[in-house]
Amino acid sequence: MQKNFERLATDSHSNARRGRLTTAHGEIDTPAFMPVGTQGSVKGVSPRELHELNAQIVLGNTYHLFVRPGLDVLKHFGGLHNFMNWDGPILTDSGGYQIFSLAKLRKLTEQGVEFQNHIDGARAFISPEIAMEIQTLLGSDIAMALDECVPYPCEYDYAAQSAEMTTRWAKRCREWKRRKDEMAKPELADSATRRRADSMLFGIVQGGTFEDLRKESAQAIVDLNFDGYAIGGVSVGEPEEEMMRAVEWAEPLLPGNKPRYAMGLGTPPQLLELIARGMDMFDCVLPTRLARNGTAFTTAGTINLKNAEFILDKNPIEENCACDACREFSRGYIRHLVKAEEILGLRLITLHNLHRSSGRRSATSLPLTYPLLAALRAARRSTTNRSYSRCRDSSSGCRRRDDGCTVARVLGASFDDNTLPRSRVTRNDGPKTVCAAVAPRHTSNFGFTRRSSASSHGRQAAISREFGF
Ligand SMILES: [Zn+2]
Repeated sequence: MQKNFERLATDSHSNARRGRLTTAHGEIDTPAFMPVGTQGSVKGVSPRELHELNAQIVLGNTYHLFVRPGLDVLKHFGGLHNFMNWDGPILTDSGGYQIFSLAKLRKLTEQGVEFQNHIDGARAFISPEIAMEIQTLLGSDIAMALDECVPYPCEYDYAAQSAEMTTRWAKRCREWKRRKDEMAKPELADSATRRRADSMLFGIVQGGTFEDLRKESAQAIVDLNFDGYAIGGVSVGEPEEEMMRAVEWAEPLLPGNKPRYAMGLGTPPQLLELIARGMDMFDCVLPTRLARNGTAFTTAGTINLKNAEFILDKNPIEENCACDACREFSRGYIRHLVKAEEILGLRLITLHNLHRSSGRRSATSLPLTYPLLAALRAARRSTTNRSYSRCRDSSSGCRRRDDGCTVARVLGASFDDNTLPRSRVTRNDGPKTVCAAVAPRHTSNFGFTRRSSASSHGRQAAISREFGF
């Protein structure tokens, strides 16, 4: 099998790129949003449904699976693909992040980390080599090197020592993989061993919020020559500017011909910014987590189906949406299910949200549209500064004008073929269906909206919609 990452298009105005990553279990079009299957399941959604939703890869949490059901069970079932009956690519984290955030009584040494799990308090030890063994047993297509994710804020000296140890751990993971790959030479290997050699290993850049440490870490990890690179230690409570800076410092040092993964990120506006900064892969719990709160993504932003305004609403969550929830059920009925705490209600919203976020982008039929991404970001800044003027597109009912109106439409089309005709039709269909830069009623429901003005509500709704959130 050929392990590669192919860049299909790059932006001339930003670092954004479109690409395709080939794994042992299929291809992934990037930028890619990876639904999170924490416990070997994307909550409430079967693998068959994930395929129907065009999800191309799921993320499995090594720590959770290691703690429960445990490696003996997973080995008995022949790995995570067989266990959960998912035949597409799987990325597994190394377990490090959860050990540092969930487990109790950690003891960190150069050798590895000893901890008590959060379920029954049983003691366990994970070293870089053991993290690789576990991910190999799971059958991961993309494994992550073990790292230490430092908290925020973090003292410089600790962040420096930690990043150096993460590099040493990364080297041990790389060495473990190299030895295993050698064993997989065709003349020596059985098929299971060869499959294992097809897996990829990503290194993780750390360094906290310090420029020199981020750069040193990126260079050191790149020198070890991984199949892809992740930016770790972000989204740990730091301000968004710090998060973006961490990515900006590392990105120039990462080879352009390898995929880049921003770990644990982010909100839709953050994803947009990260794509523009050259990131390719993201794991995102928002579609499923918000669904369980009754929140659905629509083209005009998020709506909470618990609200009384939907009691008598016979419309689907979203007009023209092809998901099962929208084809078959009304907002009023789904609202009733959610209020009555019927499992089906939350499941239907989850299916809808994942459908919105997993739309497969066509890599072949579309022109390079990323210059539009830059323009959309500029529009975002202009709306932030309230420097927009009146919308010239009166037929759409838009009350504002910024380049995002036009830009977002095309960019949106580039991210989801299926939305193209619909978007063009609905957004020029009269004042009822307005340009995405308006509709303050449909405010986004992510944490950042609390301090937002009406104008930024519209901006966030625009970005949310264009990215299917
Ligand atoms: Zn739907």
